[in-house]
Amino acid sequence: MITGTILTVGEILVEIMASERGEGFREAQPLRGPFPSGAPAIFIDQVGKLGHPAAIVSAVGDDDFGRLNLDRLAADGVDTGAVAVLKGHATGSAFVRYRPDGARDFVFNIRHSASGCIAPTDAAHAAIEACGHLHIMGSSLSIPAMAEWMAQAAASVGARGGKVSFDPNIRKEILDDPRARHALETVLGHTDLFLPSGDELLMLSGQAGVEAAVAHLIGQGIAEIVLKCGADGAIHYDRGGATRSPGFAVTEVDPTGAGDCFGATFVVCRRRGMAVGEALRYANAAGALAVGAMGPMEGASTFAELDAFLTARPH
Ligand code: ATP
Ligand code: MG
Repeated sequence: MITGTILTVGEILVEIMASERGEGFREAQPLRGPFPSGAPAIFIDQVGKLGHPAAIVSAVGDDDFGRLNLDRLAADGVDTGAVAVLKGHATGSAFVRYRPDGARDFVFNIRHSASGCIAPTDAAHAAIEACGHLHIMGSSLSIPAMAEWMAQAAASVGARGGKVSFDPNIRKEILDDPRARHALETVLGHTDLFLPSGDELLMLSGQAGVEAAVAHLIGQGIAEIVLKCGADGAIHYDRGGATRSPGFAVTEVDPTGAGDCFGATFVVCRRRGMAVGEALRYANAAGALAVGAMGPMEGASTFAELDAFLTARPH
């Protein structure tokens, strides 16, 4: 049976943040965390908070970092039944420190953590077969089993009438890995809604300018593209043209997770039949609320919170 459930597959991590800005981690310093994290986990938590059926396929260790995440996801309405709890592996982690200019330095432990062992279990297959919408994160495609598996999953969800969204969320390590790069391109071939930010649109389309990149991807069969533009908001493209939606002026406390909350909100709003302009407005509000909170998943919002934010800020 196909349900309306939005599903994602990918890493669950804890994030531990330096509380002072500076260059990396080569000195002792105050840290804050653990916070629940991982781009797919943030995305699906935002879907759950909006009250939409949500599920994640992933893996955590049998440790407190895993329990912290599973408890949060369950509390926010996400089905974690297809998250494997692996004895003998630690939950993945990301240590992050902001540099004085706002750029981020990360130390990731993903590949050798429980997240590096995400595998096509029976529960995972059942979740993929049941979902109405599959969201894929590029950051997950460097996990060993994921690249070919997600390309197949995207094809099978599409073949039975489900939808696929794809946020390339490119990190340099992914582009350096030929298998993951090939998987990015294959997944793109099965994508209905593409959610790049910054240079990702040009990097993945191989085109020199935004207009050429959009025309190229829409010509390849991608129905909708939403280009996330940070504080400037977002631009939606389809065969009918472009729709711009400005960002909201807020104080940025911590940008991590904004793109994930934005994407989740846009997908939920569109699945609920909202017009593009209205869905963009909600998604920009979700992104703005996400950057206003310290911690990657701490700024995820309910519809009541988004409505309160939007009522206070009519465009
Ligand atoms: P991430 O760092 O989570 O990967 P991203 O690069 O995918 O983010 P961004 O374009 O940085 O995506 O942010 C996504 C959305 O969040 C934007 O389209 C906008 O709506 C909102 N947003 C991001 N930064 C700000 C900001 N400083 N002020 C207001 N809104 C913001
Ligand atoms: Mg992103």
